[in-house]
Amino acid sequence: MKSPCEGEYRGRLAPSPTGLLHVGHARTFSIAARRAREHAGALILRNEDLDPQRCRTEFVDAMFEDLHWLGIEWTEGPDCGGPYAPYSQSERRSHYLQAWRNLRDEGWIYPCSCSRKDLALSATAPNDLDDEPIYPGRCRARTDAKQFDLPVGVNWRFRVPDGETITFDDVHLGFQRFVAGRDFGDFVVWRRDDVPAYHLAVVVDDAQMKITEVVRGADLLKSTARQILTFRALGISVPAYYHCDLVRDERGLRMAKRHDAASLRRLRETGSTPEQVLRTPNHS
Ligand SMILES: [Zn+2]
Repeated sequence: MKSPCEGEYRGRLAPSPTGLLHVGHARTFSIAARRAREHAGALILRNEDLDPQRCRTEFVDAMFEDLHWLGIEWTEGPDCGGPYAPYSQSERRSHYLQAWRNLRDEGWIYPCSCSRKDLALSATAPNDLDDEPIYPGRCRARTDAKQFDLPVGVNWRFRVPDGETITFDDVHLGFQRFVAGRDFGDFVVWRRDDVPAYHLAVVVDDAQMKITEVVRGADLLKSTARQILTFRALGISVPAYYHCDLVRDERGLRMAKRHDAASLRRLRETGSTPEQVLRTPNHS
């Protein structure tokens, strides 16, 4: 097995098997594949199957099949192995747990026992409907983090540096700026139901899989600011980010938010070609 060389481009495809892939995924993944090809780099397929309530093995099989149909090839993944296996998040718990311990020991995170109801009563409504409300900070002053040997039974939140401006230069969308505590609050890194949260898992995986550029949808721009803080807290360098324009339908509604979003499966069955699927009016 070839190990990554210094300076090599390493990108990733990170689908979550919670449903069938749709046109929005196809666009983002084809851009990720193109970026890796242009740099003669590696492309990693990571199966983001952390949430046992929402992920299904039949969707894992379907995403492999749909990606192959699109003509997207990867060099490392759950189906073909690689130097940073395992490539399914459900098999990487020990790595996330180690990161949780580091963040706990360094005082970056705290246990939060607020119920959904507590939060609904006191939280500031998010500016953006897609986003989570800003946590009002009720449990921030707790000092019992180190009494937990395992992250079970409570939510674990990252203590964001209120008022600090987080900036990054997006490869596609340019300069980005978010203010901690105003644009987003103390976010969850480990869920009460004992599932590592997205913001922790992707940071750990992108670091350990030596990802140099993250290509994903622009709906995750603000998440990048949260993840930059997480990288920093863990003492890891931050990869480059390329956020793709979101695919919208003829009424301007985001494809990912549509329950009837055209799945690649359905488009293929009704005679569309991969070229037709990837050719959309707002192509960037
Ligand atoms: Zn709380």
